[in-house]
Amino acid sequence: MNASRGKLVVISGPSGAGKTSVCRALKQHPDVEFSVSATTRAMRAGERDGIDYHFLSREDFQRRLGENQFLEWATYNGNLYGTPRWPMDQALARGKTFLVEIEVNGTRQLRERGIEGLYVFIAPPSIDELRRRLLNRGSNDIAEIEQRVRIAEDELAAARETVSGRPLYDVTLENRDLDETIARVRSLLWP
Ligand code: 5GP
Repeated sequence: MNASRGKLVVISGPSGAGKTSVCRALKQHPDVEFSVSATTRAMRAGERDGIDYHFLSREDFQRRLGENQFLEWATYNGNLYGTPRWPMDQALARGKTFLVEIEVNGTRQLRERGIEGLYVFIAPPSIDELRRRLLNRGSNDIAEIEQRVRIAEDELAAARETVSGRPLYDVTLENRDLDETIARVRSLLWP
């Protein structure tokens, strides 16, 4: 590995734990580039195609999957999500910190393939607090919120897993206070 090669940072954790807010703050740093995932889920109000996600039809996603275009991919709540492969290679070759925000199954794929990086899990203080945050977000209906809470319970258990004798995540941060969590992630990235 050459000395100027950048670093992969994986930010993961349940929906509503605060990882998107953490990533938004990290993106302000000039050395950080951010992965724009592909997804088949419907666009939410305020989201922009090509910026928040590449919104794809299921057929288009599956075609790209067949062409091995994704570094990892997963099904989450019935929709497909995947990280395009090439932006990471290009960013790391330019010495950038490459930030990937993904759920647990995708993280496991990266670990299993021995992809080096800093793997961070952002946890909510409690499931009740997570539900409250998802409700406040107002962009999901009640059934979807309950489904996300159920997925979160599995994700919290998965966060304690090991892969080939190594913890799935290098660090788990409980997000009680957003500014404090952002400061802790920053100190991990730029000690
Ligand atoms: P949302 O629908 O709330 O935007 O995302 C749902 C979940 O999918 C979140 O946990 C988010 O981090 C995750 N996710 C977003 N993009 C990707 C991706 O490219 N790969 C994987 N494995 N998960 C993703």
